[in-house]
Amino acid sequence: MPTRGPHLARFTNWGGSASCAPTSRAAPGSEDEVCALVKGAAGGRVKVVGGAHSWSDCAMTDHTLVSLEAMNRVVRVDKQRGQVTVEGGMRLHALNEALATEGLALPIVGSIADQTVAGLVATGTHGSSLQHRNLSAHVKAITLVDGRGEVVEIDANDARLPGARLALGALGIVTRVTLMVEPAFTVVEEMEPVTFEAAMAALPTLARDVEYAKLWWFPHTDRALLFRGRRADVVPTFSTAFRSFDTHVVNGVVFRGLLGLGATFPSWIPALNRTVALTYGSPRRVVGRSDQVLTVAMPPRHRESEWAVPLDAAVAMLRGARQLVEEQGHRVNFILEARFVPSDDTWMSPAYGRDVVQVGAYSGNPGGCAAWFGAFAALARSLEGRPHWGKEAEFTPDDVGRWYPQAGAFRDLARSLDPEGLFRNGFTERLGV
Ligand SMILES: Cc1cc2nc3c(=O)[nH]c(=O)nc-3n(C[C@H](O)[C@H](O)[C@H](O)COP(=O)(O)OP(=O)(O)OC[C@H]3O[C@@H](n4cnc5c(N)ncnc54)[C@H](O)[C@@H]3O)c2cc1C
Repeated sequence: MPTRGPHLARFTNWGGSASCAPTSRAAPGSEDEVCALVKGAAGGRVKVVGGAHSWSDCAMTDHTLVSLEAMNRVVRVDKQRGQVTVEGGMRLHALNEALATEGLALPIVGSIADQTVAGLVATGTHGSSLQHRNLSAHVKAITLVDGRGEVVEIDANDARLPGARLALGALGIVTRVTLMVEPAFTVVEEMEPVTFEAAMAALPTLARDVEYAKLWWFPHTDRALLFRGRRADVVPTFSTAFRSFDTHVVNGVVFRGLLGLGATFPSWIPALNRTVALTYGSPRRVVGRSDQVLTVAMPPRHRESEWAVPLDAAVAMLRGARQLVEEQGHRVNFILEARFVPSDDTWMSPAYGRDVVQVGAYSGNPGGCAAWFGAFAALARSLEGRPHWGKEAEFTPDDVGRWYPQAGAFRDLARSLDPEGLFRNGFTERLGV
């Protein structure tokens, strides 16, 4: 039964960019309990929150907030078909460990592994590779409880799957997800420090030359880093102790302190960034289990906006972002990141129908990020960008209709599965659902 009452604490997401005041909360432990919860909520509104790691308000509600934290198990491993089925509330780090014990791995992961599986596929979470699409595109089947409280199974033979894979919580409560997996593998990642111009010269072919590639630029400096990851049958040297040190000391204390300094004294940011860039002055090599090498140490709390622009606009987007920083006086105390995602057919995927570079504008300066993100969004829009749904961006139903050829089909699907709008919130209304 949901916990009710006017005095429930305010709920805030990880990044501190969105909050809400739910009137009740629920944490069902089974699909039957999810069905009962939905049936009991008829006429109201319900929203599931996963790990609350989206910066957008997609998981916020002032009605009933649901967590599937108790539905966090592996349901089935099918090695022959290369598939794993898990409950929607399972955290990605737990799935990575479970897969490793089976000698399996996801072909691609994003930068962190704290999200829930249902939450990360709901927003199109991606890594960086032109060979592996975003994680929503790796969904082979999905089970959800619709707005009537009925269990709906959508598998690979169902024409609704491209709509349901990335659904932003608008279709129902996702109780089970089946993902593609493959045999476990080791990745060798090499990091090369270069100048900004050398990075621009490398950018057009960077992601075509290797399986995993990404680029970081330190705003206010001429320094960039190129990351190239390849599979190799070599002995891993990755140290979980070093990763823990990076998370808790380097990021948790030193980097956090620098972000605080920059936020308090924005005029110091260029010098602080130059200092940080210097610490990345020599090449580095990491060898280890794929999910460990492809993720990064958990960064300190910060804000993010990210846009997917067509791959051939990558250099224009990066150069444009640098020009904004240099000419408009934004003070940016976090890296700018470029990652690569191949085209897919998921209706609401930012990579729908085109290969993209997902360029992230980050900030550890909450008071100063609105102007930076606004200018960055205008640049991305001018290059036919679409926003990452889990990050900060303003958009209207008209934008969504213009960006997504299948937006109408997605709205129709949402209305057919949720005729009373039980799963609506401010975010889905801006989607036009
Ligand atoms: C430090 C950090 C690093 C990140 N790195 C990356 C990255 O590398 N690549 C990338 O693409 N993104 C990245 N993200 C963004 C993140 O992956 C997405 O925002 C993701 O959706 C968060 O998952 P979550 O479980 O926290 O979901 P939430 O943010 O809680 O929810 C996301 C959406 O899913 C819905 N939802 C959640 N569970 C269910 C369910 N069971 N049924 C129906 N709907 C549900 C919610 O209602 C909401 O609409 C990062 C975020 C952080 C904080």
